[in-house]
Amino acid sequence: MALGTPSTRTDRARTVRDLLASGERSYSFEFMAPKTEKGERTLWNAIRRVEAVAPTFVSVTYGAGGSSREGTVRATERIATDTTLTPVAHLTAVNHSLTELRNVIGQYADAGIRNMLALRGDPPGDPLGDWIAHPEGVTYAAELVRLIKESGDFCVGVAAYPEMHPRSTDWDTDIRHFVDKCRAGADFAITQMFFNAEDYLRLRDRVAAASCATPIIPEIMPVTNVRQIERFAQLSNAAFPTELADRILAAKDDPAAVRSIGIEYATELCARLMAEDIPGLHFITLNHSTATLEIYENLGLHQRS
Ligand code: FAD
Repeated sequence: MALGTPSTRTDRARTVRDLLASGERSYSFEFMAPKTEKGERTLWNAIRRVEAVAPTFVSVTYGAGGSSREGTVRATERIATDTTLTPVAHLTAVNHSLTELRNVIGQYADAGIRNMLALRGDPPGDPLGDWIAHPEGVTYAAELVRLIKESGDFCVGVAAYPEMHPRSTDWDTDIRHFVDKCRAGADFAITQMFFNAEDYLRLRDRVAAASCATPIIPEIMPVTNVRQIERFAQLSNAAFPTELADRILAAKDDPAAVRSIGIEYATELCARLMAEDIPGLHFITLNHSTATLEIYENLGLHQRS
């Protein structure tokens, strides 16, 4: 099949761009490529539970290399062929030549996938280590957006950072580079996870002040155990609210209480955001759908399905 040719499965022809343009809020879930057979079963258990609430789309993160990347492509293709869900395929530029990137885009197109999230990616091992572009690859996400757009009729998303990208030196430059990605053809953006609604709202206002109207979907991840406090800060550069950390640490010997504090906090964050003009919510599941589905239910969203 030619790149970007719409699949015969008509529901798969919907793009996130069309769905957002219709004015409806988007509700979506993010999964990771499984690394083991047990992980594969856990992932599919979570996907089937999420399928039952008919989200706008689901996305699968792109691995750092080798087999995990093949796992991403396989899982995304299977979502496209074996479920009623609309998949968004993540793709990163790390260690890929242009030819390899075109091949992956072609594989996604052949599976009828129309939506992709174009990311530069981080250096494998140390996310804040030196970024070294592949000699025949791309250096920034904006170039990947252009490559995907040139390859067919794809809807392309990009990443946004409510607390600024860790490598950016100041807000003006960060916003300028974000707007460059949008002008390169991005149809929507999804943020890094964050814990304070004001951080998202400030980012949205800064982007709007730069005359950029690309919809920015906030990404939500509930804390469900104590170990995640440190892990989150490492992964996302997100400032962890002291008040939330204190409450979780005070309950650290009671895992069920920790989980319910995390779910309550994330529910309140979503409710605060939904009181604003947001295009949707994107939930990180870590392949365990129960916590995010609980938030979904707390917000009354399960009644959509
Ligand atoms: P870019 O937009 O290229 O920006 C990277 C840095 O370069 C920024 O500081 C930017 O300001 C700067 N910059 C941009 N253009 C220029 C220019 N022309 N000149 C100078 N500086 C410039 N990682 C994965 O490995 N797999 C995933 O599946 C994945 N999914 C993600 C999903 C979401 C929603 C988000 C928010 C992040 C995800 N990431 C993933 C992490 C992402 O790859 C990293 O945050 C990475 O460091 C930056 O990617 P980017 O696409 O934002 O890069």
